Amino acid sequence: MNEQTKQIILEKIEAYQTIIVSRHIRPDGDAVGSTKGLVKILKDSFPAKDIYLVNEDYSDYLAFCGGEDCVSDMVYADALLIVIDTGTRDRISNSKFRLAKEIVKIDHHIEADPYGDVNWVEDFRSSACEMIADFAFTFKEKLCLSREAATYIYLGMVTDSDRFRFEGVTGDTMRLAGALLDCGVDTEALFSNLYVDDFRTLRLKSFVYDHIRITENGVAYIYMSKEIQEQFGLTLEAASAVVGDLSKIRGSLIWVAFIDNTKKGNIRVRLRSRFLGINDLAIKYHGGGHNMAAGATVFSVEEMYALIGDADKLLGEYKSTHEGWL
Ligand code: AMP
Repeated sequence: MNEQTKQIILEKIEAYQTIIVSRHIRPDGDAVGSTKGLVKILKDSFPAKDIYLVNEDYSDYLAFCGGEDCVSDMVYADALLIVIDTGTRDRISNSKFRLAKEIVKIDHHIEADPYGDVNWVEDFRSSACEMIADFAFTFKEKLCLSREAATYIYLGMVTDSDRFRFEGVTGDTMRLAGALLDCGVDTEALFSNLYVDDFRTLRLKSFVYDHIRITENGVAYIYMSKEIQEQFGLTLEAASAVVGDLSKIRGSLIWVAFIDNTKKGNIRVRLRSRFLGINDLAIKYHGGGHNMAAGATVFSVEEMYALIGDADKLLGEYKSTHEGWL
């Protein structure tokens, strides 16, 4: 079934003169890597076509990956739009997406909104980049995979699987990653870009470690209020990144970062877990995502505490019925 879908996507790519590629809002390494990687592959493979990368927001953390394109509304009328790594239409970082002649969705989230004319969704994949790598190698006779494209795709595989350690990582993931490395990915440069931090960021980490709270059953959380964000001069993106700092506490199988989104007047929630799923909890609070990494939104501090209470109950139930967790 998916083999046939991939074939249809290739045929659409071949048929269209104009192709636009977009990703989800608040991009991460997978969204940026998969879209930039595919655009590079398409430009190299079909130099006579008009290929654009179009998105309406940006990530400081991934600034080293370079800029994107702007196109007029008219371009969409005859264009194929490929949207990658974006589960639902409200998260597409391209408000013009409806103007496209046809849409192809390529995604690895649990299917909740098949908005494409063609939908290739494999939620067992550890990243959307893994799917782009699979696509490139499946059609290697027709698609050029340069070192640059391989590097973008490898970036997404590495970041979305937290360095190949999440449960979605399979033998296939590693075989595809290995094949990308064979294309000459410069891992030294890539990992330097991912790991080097400003000293200011390290000071923030130290603050975060001092202010993490842990519920009775072990839910670790932090609230990045407007005042804290101002104190450290943080963008919403930088404030949101603190979720990673909560991940390594023994007994805390669920961890949550709440970030005041002053522009929208709500609180962004980033939920993470190990061993037990938190996707249903995210859905209850106007969000969703993956089983162990999801996002949500709450609209008051009271609702934030309600979510924490639900998370604590969930974790309590899990701990009382399971053994062997850390
Ligand atoms: P984040 O915490 O924003 O990195 O999100 C973790 C995962 O959940 C990502 O795969 C997102 O695509 C997904 N996600 C985040 N926020 C939402 C939301 N409001 N609705 C559905 N999925 C979301």
